[in-house]
Amino acid sequence: MIGTCTALHLQQRGYDVVLVDRREPGQETSLGNAGLIQREAVEPYPFPRQWGKLLQAALGLGVDVHYHLSALPSLVRPLWRYFVDSGPARYPRQVQAYARLIEHCLDEHRPLIEQAGAAEAVRPVGYLDVYRTGRVWEAAARDAERLALAFGLRCTVLDAAGLAQAEPALRHPLAGAVHWQDPWSVRDPAELVSAYARLFVQRGGRLVRGDATALTPHGRGWRLPLPDGAIEAPVAVVALGPWSDTLLQRLGYRLPLFVKRGYHQHYTGGGVLQRPALDAERGFVLVPMRRGLRLTTGAEFAHRDAPATPVQVRRAEAAARELMDLGRALDEPPWLGARPCTPDMLPIMGAAPRHPGLWFNFGHSHQGFTLGPVAGRLLAEMIAGEPPFVDPAPYRPERWG
Ligand SMILES: Cc1cc2nc3c(=O)[nH]c(=O)nc-3n(C[C@H](O)[C@H](O)[C@H](O)COP(=O)(O)OP(=O)(O)OC[C@H]3O[C@@H](n4cnc5c(N)ncnc54)[C@H](O)[C@@H]3O)c2cc1C
Repeated sequence: MIGTCTALHLQQRGYDVVLVDRREPGQETSLGNAGLIQREAVEPYPFPRQWGKLLQAALGLGVDVHYHLSALPSLVRPLWRYFVDSGPARYPRQVQAYARLIEHCLDEHRPLIEQAGAAEAVRPVGYLDVYRTGRVWEAAARDAERLALAFGLRCTVLDAAGLAQAEPALRHPLAGAVHWQDPWSVRDPAELVSAYARLFVQRGGRLVRGDATALTPHGRGWRLPLPDGAIEAPVAVVALGPWSDTLLQRLGYRLPLFVKRGYHQHYTGGGVLQRPALDAERGFVLVPMRRGLRLTTGAEFAHRDAPATPVQVRRAEAAARELMDLGRALDEPPWLGARPCTPDMLPIMGAAPRHPGLWFNFGHSHQGFTLGPVAGRLLAEMIAGEPPFVDPAPYRPERWG
């Protein structure tokens, strides 16, 4: 999503753009997500600070968090920074910087969706945070109203009866929900990225298969050897999502990137949800999609390429079956992807500190699908030397040295 949108925005500014991907665009993290364009997500996910939550995660008891012991040594440094940046001294500043990107997500997706002829794939139905316990729901409702007021968001608080009316398929005796009305739900996230990529090609862009990690400085620009001949260009953008550091390490950058892996599984033949629903007390999402009801999981702290351990899918499925008739799982292994994360919860967007002509656009963590067109426009404006529509200072790569 991020690379394709950056390509579109550069092309719009008159650049001759080649989009290089080792697969078709939209076949990795941007395929498997929950497909939410999250206008309400003005607060990036902080590191939990409640002892109960930390203990549950440490003991491996929850649905929302899972970790591999073997990954912890390499995660200590980024997770410590993540913990510090989630604290009361710094988090409010991170929220302001994040919200300034999120607030443009609908306005930036809208024209691309129209131009790509993809309107049919997008449903402006919002989504529900569903609560099982009265006390938790009441606190969440107060918090949602605070956020809505502070950031101009639309939300409705539903009690148990209101929720039953809105989502008859939910059968558990639930406490209530918060209905965020602004977000959009995409029926097939990969298809939206493909539609954007087709628009790029229709407008004269070149889509090329190749391994971007072979990129090297060349004269005053960049060179990428490909099977059908090398590409040379004065400007290169790294938008490899969770694979970005593979290339950057070769170029001598040591950014404290890490991944939060996540899974999905589809179900069919069960109850029908009208809109996506997050089980806010268990930490998984159910989304009606083209292939069926998609269940997506929370965060797994593990090496990006470690074998899949879909513990959270099993636990989330059991919890989801308490909520509704899920039907049967489609006969396919759970999909596994990796959210590209940074310790300060902000993406890395801007000029590479030590390489003229190299630009970074990655680390959009939980909301890269939402932020694609915003990130694409901001980076293209910076490259073209136009006044940026959002102050890019908080996202600059130099913050990590
Ligand atoms: C379970 C889950 C649920 C999520 N739900 C949401 C949601 O509802 N809303 C939301 O906004 N975000 C969501 N996210 C986060 C979102 O999916 C990511 O932030 C986003 O997809 C990142 O986009 P990207 O373009 O940076 O990375 P990717 O989509 O992974 O794209 C990276 C591209 O780089 C290519 N590539 C990799 N290596 C090479 C190489 N060596 N050479 C050439 N090309 C290469 C890949 O083929 C790929 O096309 C979710 C994530 C997960 C895991």
